[in-house]
Amino acid sequence: MTDTEWGPVEREVEERARRDVLDTALAMSRRGLSPGRSGNVSRRFRGGMLITPSGRTYASILPADIVFVADDGTVPPGQRVPSTEWRFHLAAYRTRPDVGGIVHTHSPNATALACAGKSIPAFHYMVAVAGGNDIPLVPYATFGTNELARHVAKGLRKRDACLMANHGQIAVGETCSKALELAAEVEILAEQYFRVLSLGDPVVLSDEEMERVAQQLEGYGLNARD
Ligand code: ZN
Repeated sequence: MTDTEWGPVEREVEERARRDVLDTALAMSRRGLSPGRSGNVSRRFRGGMLITPSGRTYASILPADIVFVADDGTVPPGQRVPSTEWRFHLAAYRTRPDVGGIVHTHSPNATALACAGKSIPAFHYMVAVAGGNDIPLVPYATFGTNELARHVAKGLRKRDACLMANHGQIAVGETCSKALELAAEVEILAEQYFRVLSLGDPVVLSDEEMERVAQQLEGYGLNARD
């Protein structure tokens, strides 16, 4: 994709999209959701996606460093290397045509639960923001692999957020900023659930109650998938 192929309007649209990905990544870091260099952000774009680059701190990059990955997984020449986790981002966009933005983090509490092999049940009604009566845990596979991409895509079929075993969490939304808001909510729920577990067995809400909650949240314009 060279300058000669796109006019000024298209370039402006692309610049704004790149900035959106970078701004979301910076907000993710500021909010303490991505310790070290962990975590990545993408946004659906022109049949593929724009994703944060590999191995760079977000404070040190510019919109031009955000990487375009085509829907077949190829990266046009002249760009940086995309995040090593690009495969599960692409798999999520394929599985969920309604999704426009994705945030993946190793946020501390979600990661702790994921490393203990725990999903998050309906211990609190706000679990419904992930689109159902739990926040599921998808199985472990080595980072960057197609196997992990398959697990993540399967987990996101009926939920907007999942924990990833021995790894972290992923959240999706219509936009990058909505995905970030959901990732932040998942981290809060994970912290609360962690505390509940220390007190004993959680009291889990029934499927019927979670159905009522989902309908209420829909009235407030929040996501709920089933
Ligand atoms: Zn990761």
